[in-house]
Amino acid sequence: MTLNLFDTYRREVREFVPLKDGIASLYCCGPTVYNYAHIGNLRTYIFEDVLRRTLELNGYKVEHVVNITDVGHLVSDADDGEDKMEKGAARTGKTAWEIAQIYTDAFMEDLKRLNIKTPTTLCKATDHIPEQIEAIQQIEAKDMCYRTSDGIYFDTSKDPNYGYLARLDVEGLQQGARVDKGEKRNVTDFALWKFSPPDEQRQMEWDSPWGKGFPGWHIECSAMAAKYLGPLFDIHCGGKDHIPIHHSNEIAQAHACYGTNLSNYWMHGYFLQTDKEKMSKSSGEFLTTSTLIEKKYDPLAYRYFCLLAHYRSDIMFSWEALDSAVKALTRMREAYHRWSDGGSVPSDYKQKFLSYINDDLNTSRAIALIWDLIKDNAVSEADKKATVNLIDQVLGLEISLWQPARVADIPPEAIALAEKRQQARADKDWATADQMRDELAALGYKVKDTSDGFEVKPV
Ligand code: AMP
Ligand code: ZN
Repeated sequence: MTLNLFDTYRREVREFVPLKDGIASLYCCGPTVYNYAHIGNLRTYIFEDVLRRTLELNGYKVEHVVNITDVGHLVSDADDGEDKMEKGAARTGKTAWEIAQIYTDAFMEDLKRLNIKTPTTLCKATDHIPEQIEAIQQIEAKDMCYRTSDGIYFDTSKDPNYGYLARLDVEGLQQGARVDKGEKRNVTDFALWKFSPPDEQRQMEWDSPWGKGFPGWHIECSAMAAKYLGPLFDIHCGGKDHIPIHHSNEIAQAHACYGTNLSNYWMHGYFLQTDKEKMSKSSGEFLTTSTLIEKKYDPLAYRYFCLLAHYRSDIMFSWEALDSAVKALTRMREAYHRWSDGGSVPSDYKQKFLSYINDDLNTSRAIALIWDLIKDNAVSEADKKATVNLIDQVLGLEISLWQPARVADIPPEAIALAEKRQQARADKDWATADQMRDELAALGYKVKDTSDGFEVKPV
């Protein structure tokens, strides 16, 4: 069965054909680490994780590269305003390097909480300054950039295909430009290298052939993607806001440096919105996985909520919708944990599942298929379990790992024995503690010490 994916570049669903047999190379734009990722950002990473898992299900070894933007991303994508990292440093009273580390660690924790697979390569922009300088030199050698008083800019008029990804009306933009271009030759030109302001000591700056400064945001992605995946690889992803600026600029840079489109397929996740505006770090409601956990939500219920919609449609966040996702996921997990092992996946369900997920990642139909399966009396419970295991390889809801809440099922005498054991341990009366453990085992329970006491479970 073929895998078909929507390619923003061609604006059509295309069969996925890898450049190298058996390998899928995937680059996903990662976080700008000046703040926590909000659950909107995380929706994009969940979509990319489903893509990776689908590629794996189809037998590909996935080379999955994600960058960490720890320098160069200015408050406005149009190269104006402060550097987001230095701004984050000023907000928190920490150094730009410290906040990069704090929010990179938080990002890794978010991936774990949402069961998003760790990228095979995670690369920081600040660890790749020489590669970025070299890429800018290649652009300079093609005479496709120029110098202004504050930096080196890509001259987009030198790339006849500039903006094709976004179907940008470059001429219209140029003529209708009311925005102040400053020293830029074209409104769409963008910074490759910014000079450190003469009157200000930046925390993050490097020497370069053009003067002390820091790289623009766009060059980091094309330079690192080419380093780890080659000048042309299979799939490049990001949120849909990247189509008109960031990814258009990455493609222009790759035209100049390597004579390629950088990636064969360009895929974009749509937005999570709150109250009709997109969730963003600078405005609106800013929700993180920690907010969810504080409010006693399982982050995987948020993952379930995201998977109910197609990645190419915007979704509206609401607590009511998340509550429904919690209920549905709990029902699904409870059903699963009543079933026995040892079954196999019925071929009609396997076929259906593959046809849905290989049809541009139709996760909502895959979820609906699980509900059909739960109700289907013609399928044995063991086969149902095997089928959910298969589907969950892609959905990543960790259905098999979930532990039903059993506290209510534990008889009071077992709890009493566990309490006596804990007291004995506190008294360093190991013989009594061991005896209580054995008595518990005889009742069919085991006890585990936890950070806040103990947990009793059936053996
Ligand atoms: P950033 O950390 O701002 O560079 O963004 C990280 C990723 O999240 C990028 O791929 C963005 O396109 C994406 N993104 C930003 N806001 C949203 C949103 N509200 N919903 C979904 N994805 C988003
Ligand atoms: Zn990027």
